[in-house]
Amino acid sequence: NTFEELGINQGILQGLYSMNFKKPSKIQEKALPLLLGNPPTNMIAQSQSGTGKTAAFVITILSRLDYSRPNQPQALCLAPSRELARQIEGVVRTIGQFVQGLTVQAAVPGAVERGAKVQAMVVVGTPGTVMDLIKRRQFDVSNMKVLCLDEADNMLDQQGLGDQCLRVKQMIPRVDQILLFSATFPDEVMRYAQQFSPGANEIKL
Ligand code: AMP
Repeated sequence: NTFEELGINQGILQGLYSMNFKKPSKIQEKALPLLLGNPPTNMIAQSQSGTGKTAAFVITILSRLDYSRPNQPQALCLAPSRELARQIEGVVRTIGQFVQGLTVQAAVPGAVERGAKVQAMVVVGTPGTVMDLIKRRQFDVSNMKVLCLDEADNMLDQQGLGDQCLRVKQMIPRVDQILLFSATFPDEVMRYAQQFSPGANEIKL
């Protein structure tokens, strides 16, 4: 199996090859045909860290963007810590380095000045900061194509973070695709995940 066969576009392929990703990892091979399908569908994916899940959702996000609207936030990725959010931001930038016109921004504590607008196509942040930015109308979420939660188990099982994720989701009027990635989905978290990402394809490595 190859990345070409998945219909991934040229700029993204170049990014993947520059990182020396020669072919899809197991989880990518399983998830990407579903993630990249049309119409877009929700997904709950269980896979250990180190298996290539970040690239799976980053490829999906980069494949869904409307590149004629560089100032319009179109994809939001939430992570439980600012460190992880920064790490994901870095992966988006690296895989997207040859993608013309791509804009990426972190929405973590201290990253967005008070009153400044979030004006990147891909926003990677922590739930509390993202929630505040939307409330203060600094972050327009009216044109979201993808909402992705990384380490979903960590977020959805914590009272505070889980509530913030739900609030963020409720403030987004519509979104084409909701993706939940996690190393584990304990039963209770899975039930919550299924409500959060209705009708999702569930895959497990
Ligand atoms: P993750 O599961 O997102 O933590 O990724 C684990 C590691 O695998 C990262 O260091 C990635 O750079 C690497 N990786 C992801 N996809 C591939 C691939 N298709 N081929 C080789 N390495 C990969």
